[in-house]
Amino acid sequence: MTENAARDQIAKLGKSMFDRGLTFGSSGNISVRLDDGWLMTPTGVTMGEIDPARISKLDHEGNHIGGDKPTKETFLHLAMYDERPQSGAIVHLHSTHSVAVSCLTDIDHANVLPPITAYYVMRIGTLPLIPYFPPGDVDLARAVREMASNHHAVLLANHGPVVAGSSLQDAVSATEELEETAKLFLMLQGAKTRFLDETQVAELRDRFPS
Ligand code: ZN
Repeated sequence: MTENAARDQIAKLGKSMFDRGLTFGSSGNISVRLDDGWLMTPTGVTMGEIDPARISKLDHEGNHIGGDKPTKETFLHLAMYDERPQSGAIVHLHSTHSVAVSCLTDIDHANVLPPITAYYVMRIGTLPLIPYFPPGDVDLARAVREMASNHHAVLLANHGPVVAGSSLQDAVSATEELEETAKLFLMLQGAKTRFLDETQVAELRDRFPS
């Protein structure tokens, strides 16, 4: 994909997520890997109104070389890319249901959500919880880095998901699957529930290796 096509796709998918309530205000950010660096959504911009020409461009070292100033959460993206050379794009949202789940006390920190549906298992698989750190804390980048080589999706406690994909469409689809699964999980709280069992999950992993 050319840089201009990537810029257009960031604006289009950003607006699509904004219009469907997956992100709000100026929260959330998107990045795409290029041959010569990265595209990153700018700071203080609503995802509903991204101007493709003003998207920030970073060089291989993460230096800002074009467009508006990048999001303050750029370090989260770069930490993830460092550990995942196979990933082409990253989406980070403060999407309501995923954030709500990230605040629950009795969740498994190694894998926050149970296998509710086959698509969740195929698109996300396991989702570790990253402990809470204040915005911009370098320890947050370190904690993400530790998990990123083995996980394309992580959930930041009291904050939101960070999801990498082979392409931007792939990262957006996985983020949507995660948000909908978080919503289902909250709807099912207190209800007797049959999740997929270990055999069913293992069979999915054999059939659809990630
Ligand atoms: Zn954030």
